[in-house]
Amino acid sequence: MKKLFIPIFSLCVLACTKSNTDDNTSNDGATTNDFSRLYAKIYNVKSIDSSGSSSVIIKTTDVPDHKTPFFGTSSAKYEAYNGDNPDFSTKISLMGNISDPTLLSQSITFTLPKKPVVASSHSSTSGGAIGIARNGVVYFNQYNGANAALDELEINNADQYLGHPTPSAGSSGAVYHYHYEPKYLTSTFGNSSFMGFLLDGFPVYGPYENGAKVTTSMLDSYNGHVSSTEDYPNEKIYHYHVISATSSVASVLKLAAPYINGGKYYGTKGTVN
Ligand SMILES: [Zn+2]
Ligand SMILES: [Zn+2]
Repeated sequence: MKKLFIPIFSLCVLACTKSNTDDNTSNDGATTNDFSRLYAKIYNVKSIDSSGSSSVIIKTTDVPDHKTPFFGTSSAKYEAYNGDNPDFSTKISLMGNISDPTLLSQSITFTLPKKPVVASSHSSTSGGAIGIARNGVVYFNQYNGANAALDELEINNADQYLGHPTPSAGSSGAVYHYHYEPKYLTSTFGNSSFMGFLLDGFPVYGPYENGAKVTTSMLDSYNGHVSSTEDYPNEKIYHYHVISATSSVASVLKLAAPYINGGKYYGTKGTVN
């Protein structure tokens, strides 16, 4: 009796341990929320500290590692617009005031949950940073400063990498950000790659998965789902997806809304300041 009992008990212990294991050791398709291998892919930031038990702290200047027309023409990182939107302009008219900002270095700190969990009550995204791209540039949501959907004027202000700065009149100055597919990152790292994190600590991935374009109909209302990814081929993780458009012309790009997030966070959000 005793000989039979011990092996069965051991198996149970192993099975229970396995179901609670995350990262590196699990290959049974279990869902994990350990994103340590993704923190290692964040670059062009001042610092990233994932040594704490509950939070990951990322500090960024928000200055892109790629060129853009929004650096002044005297900057080595200035690049004239070379995208496919004939209506692009660095100038934007805001209630009659023309803004033509040069992007400025920021001091932004993200404190993200290290083991993100689904929220019991999903909070809405707000104006300003809702996440951080893997190159340290911040993500904004799909709305403008008046909480309305981004219109043609704003889309026509998106550079060849689909970023642009906020108007320089604000107290923090011109904050460069992405509302749409971060095109420098998808072209550099691939369409199915890790693209950064939203404020709730869940990762964002590119617009393709397993060779197929991701559409919002494949995702939940937060623009995410649970699936394996390039970084987690044998496990499943909750992640958001960037939705891509075939062109950066406003009438076409608009159709990719909500671009990154559905308007609310899937998980409990961290802080940014
Ligand atoms: Zn914007
Ligand atoms: Zn996916």
